[in-house]
Amino acid sequence: MAYDDDNIFAKILRGEIPCDRLYEDDHVLAFRDINPQTPTHVLVIPKGAYVSFDDFSESASSEEIAGFVRASGKIARDLGLVEPGYRILSNHGADAHQEVPHFHLHLFGGKNLGRMIKPQDK
Ligand code: AMP
Repeated sequence: MAYDDDNIFAKILRGEIPCDRLYEDDHVLAFRDINPQTPTHVLVIPKGAYVSFDDFSESASSEEIAGFVRASGKIARDLGLVEPGYRILSNHGADAHQEVPHFHLHLFGGKNLGRMIKPQDK
């Protein structure tokens, strides 16, 4: 799947759309989800043009991948989520209902998140 330069996160990265920014460095931007599913719901995105985790894991440089993982952990620590706990999740493709075709990590926290998948949903 080719990268779509008009996706909403590409527009945020270009400064064409505002975001509630929490963190930024050379490789990473993190901002609050516009429709939070939990008290804390942050999106962490690479600045490079990657469609999804599949694309990022295959094509990003080791520096980008390391920077992304380090930044994601730091953001969770800075939000005070290490002791209570948090969940990270990334949707790839149709079965996962990925909506925005720019790789992003969801960081959820701020309440007991329950089990990852309900037994009846298996
Ligand atoms: P996904 O289904 O994994 O692609 O999730 C996309 C996420 O992006 C959803 O949780 C949306 O609420 C969120 N989102 C969409 N537009 C914006 C925006 N302009 N600012 C912040 N979050 C957004």
